[in-house]
Amino acid sequence: MTPALAKKNITFSHTLSPEAASVRQALLDKGLETPLVDNGLTRDEKYLKIAAAFTDITQTLGLDLTDDSLCDTPSRIARMYVDEIFSGLDYSHFPKIAVIANKMQVEEMVQIDDIGLVSTCEHHFVTIDGTAKVAYIPGNKIIGLSKINRIVRFFAQRPQVQERLTQQILVALQTLLETEDVAVSINAVHYCVKSRGVMDGNSRTRTTSLGGAFKETPSTRAEFLN
Ligand SMILES: [Zn+2]
Repeated sequence: MTPALAKKNITFSHTLSPEAASVRQALLDKGLETPLVDNGLTRDEKYLKIAAAFTDITQTLGLDLTDDSLCDTPSRIARMYVDEIFSGLDYSHFPKIAVIANKMQVEEMVQIDDIGLVSTCEHHFVTIDGTAKVAYIPGNKIIGLSKINRIVRFFAQRPQVQERLTQQILVALQTLLETEDVAVSINAVHYCVKSRGVMDGNSRTRTTSLGGAFKETPSTRAEFLN
């Protein structure tokens, strides 16, 4: 084990559920983890530092932070970043997942459409707004359907690029379900395209990650993609 990897394991592993730890390790192994540095800051320290930084940003823009509409904005943004829209950077927020044995011998594809997905573009820190479609073919394990939505939300609540988000959801489900037969597709509007730059409000971006039978078997692939 490299010193860097040993350090990471010491830093994170003691607080994580086994499911969160195994998902995180699988993402590291595949090079799909979000670039993270453990800075050792507590939640309260993060609030203070982000609020101070946003005070700086708003004042630099020329806004009057003594105005009663603006005065709480830096601390509000700090709490929103840490506890809400970027809470998925902290694996202690990974959803509680009960994977159960497939005693009913379900062997047909399980597919969930139109999972609401709101994330944040890591290049511009503005919203990505879309839906996810997730499918898997049960092997030995099945998972509560609402848990799939929660896993989508966990990884969406990070600064993201859509391609990585799609792959992170795929690998998380492959790891938890102990099967390669998982497929994920995300269709989203990027507000960095809609609200700035080319100002295109109509274009949507679709990204798809296919594993196992979804990649190898044309009929299974077609069933998912249609
Ligand atoms: Zn962007």
